[in-house]
Amino acid sequence: MTLETEKKIKVAVNGGINYGAKLNGKQLMTLAKYLDDDQELEVTTFQQLYIEIPEDGNEKVLNEFEEVGLSCYPVGNFVKSLRTCNFCKGSEQEGMPVAKELNKRIAGKPVPFTLKPAYTGCPIGCGEPMMNDIGVMKMKDTYTLYIGGKSKGHDARVGIKLMEKLTPEEIYDSVEKIISMYSEQGKKRESFYRFVSRIGIEEIRKSVCNSDETWDKTFELERREM
Ligand code: SF4
Repeated sequence: MTLETEKKIKVAVNGGINYGAKLNGKQLMTLAKYLDDDQELEVTTFQQLYIEIPEDGNEKVLNEFEEVGLSCYPVGNFVKSLRTCNFCKGSEQEGMPVAKELNKRIAGKPVPFTLKPAYTGCPIGCGEPMMNDIGVMKMKDTYTLYIGGKSKGHDARVGIKLMEKLTPEEIYDSVEKIISMYSEQGKKRESFYRFVSRIGIEEIRKSVCNSDETWDKTFELERREM
């Protein structure tokens, strides 16, 4: 079979969560092996590159990508890899290990419509957590969770603060619960922000807060909003 007639699949790759969205020479050369001279590598707004690889033996290719430190994700109606800020103030201080763990738990999960999560290491918000479907912002030693942001369209809007003062475990648990809820109750091709509007922020809060401790934090937040 020639390269032109070979069946291909599209995959999303990036250099993983680090100080900025970067690729090294080895990674670029590995990707180039699978590009014809006139084939294009698509750069998305979500710190991912789309590349088409042969469907036959794609696991071998994906392993080769991972061996040089590339992270690979499916394309389509899945949770995208976590968009992050550049962690300019340092890995630990800005919670890079938490961002990595969160990404490991959620990226690539099937959902009714592509879901974009974002993380930012401080309130300056370079990772734009409030303009994406699910946003996490590190605030000193705790994490604030936003949902339902939308960066494009005539109905663009800022995400709503769902919970605050969360520990890393509470952030993982809450985000995983929200995604499960969306997978189970979302309609086919219903975008996440429409899902949030249909179900309602209070209902989502109730479903996510099943421990007294997180409920107290949410209750405190609700009182301040009144
Ligand atoms: S959000 Fe904060 S830590 Fe992250 S790149 Fe921006 S200023 Fe730096």
